[in-house]
Amino acid sequence: MKFKNSLAYAQSLDEKDPLKLFRDEFYIPKLQGEDVLYFTGNSLGLQPKGTAKIINEELELWKERGVEGHFEGERPWFHYHKFAKESLAKIVGAKPEEVVPMNSLTTNLHLLMVSFYRPTSKRFKIITEAGAFPSDQYALESQVKFHGFTPEEAIIELAPREEETTLRTEDILTAIETNSKELALIMFSGVQYFTGQFFNIEHITKVGHKAGAVVGFDLAHAAGNIPLKLHDHQVDFAVWCHYKYLNSGPGSVAGAFVHNKHANNPDLPRFAGWWGHNEEERFLMKKGFKPMSGVDGWQLSNANVLATAALLASLAVVDKAGFDNMRVKSVQLTAFLEFLLNDLFSKEELAILTPNDSHQRGAQLSIALVNKGRKVFDELTSKGVVADWREPNLISNQAGVMRVAPTPLYNSYEEVFNFVQLLRKAIN
Ligand SMILES: *Cc1c(COP(=O)(O)O)cnc(C)c1O
Repeated sequence: MKFKNSLAYAQSLDEKDPLKLFRDEFYIPKLQGEDVLYFTGNSLGLQPKGTAKIINEELELWKERGVEGHFEGERPWFHYHKFAKESLAKIVGAKPEEVVPMNSLTTNLHLLMVSFYRPTSKRFKIITEAGAFPSDQYALESQVKFHGFTPEEAIIELAPREEETTLRTEDILTAIETNSKELALIMFSGVQYFTGQFFNIEHITKVGHKAGAVVGFDLAHAAGNIPLKLHDHQVDFAVWCHYKYLNSGPGSVAGAFVHNKHANNPDLPRFAGWWGHNEEERFLMKKGFKPMSGVDGWQLSNANVLATAALLASLAVVDKAGFDNMRVKSVQLTAFLEFLLNDLFSKEELAILTPNDSHQRGAQLSIALVNKGRKVFDELTSKGVVADWREPNLISNQAGVMRVAPTPLYNSYEEVFNFVQLLRKAIN
């Protein structure tokens, strides 16, 4: 696709955009009466206008019927988690019985590692990416300690080559093969939160299994951003949140995937709660845990109905738009942003850390600002740009990084154009 660097051209792309009306389904925050340029859907997606209605329906049911709401109404609370399954399964490429909304992301990571990180004295290592999101680092660190190992001996962190900002798939696969005798688990993110790199889930899983390891992914930045095929790619387990690209509200209920091949494995140890127990007998309150088949057997508690209601509202928007259509627009929107950045800035002014291959990224571009980055970022903020700033770290070395994620449901080509203009002025 050849783009042009002009406002009229950006507007013409919006005119042709089949998803352009979906912006109206969201509340756009304002600064001094004007819509902000909101590019932080990778951190907290915006509120769908349908969210309050569905939460209010549950509040009404609770008000009118009290405890009877568990079995009455349009969406009985007893079954509440099930109402999200069909839509979630499409988004992550799974069977409905392989996905469930529950808990929060880090909680699910721990719960599934209890089952899927089973180190022995010979096989106890975990491979992960260097610079992973801190919560994931802490989870891995505390899990290996829980099993009597030290993070130094048990956790292998893969970093990009010198002078490079993202990992090469070949280097990941080689590291897996090199460590195959001692490897218990591969735990990677789907999309790296800092660089925006989308890892090759299919190949990592295949080579990981060949090495005799279990393979899990944290899809916080991938779910709702890039279509996935967790079932076909034989991923063992995965976790994600719904408040980033899936617009379900701050701290909303998270998601979990367990592949069907593990659905009825009695040898998998787990931490159990009553909502994972055989549904038919759940209210008999009997001794002896009998897990539900599939990922439902990992549930601990009855559904957080108000949070899950917000999830249902946001999934309805995705279903209406069609996730494949969203991805088509997303690829083009981000490519347009990349084109404008390359057109207007020199390599000395800024560098894009994110891979330029659309198969290796989602909506986000991570932009390293070499000089006075923080000042530029603050200037943009004062002009109504909502993006995200990270100080220099091991990947970006000397430059601070601005993460910008135009999302296909509520961002436009014109907004991307205006953002790049503002960035040009701020850097000048
Ligand atoms: C956003 C994010 C989290 C946040 O974890 P919570 O348990 O939802 O607070 C964790 N890991 C990754 C990779 C993330 O991107």
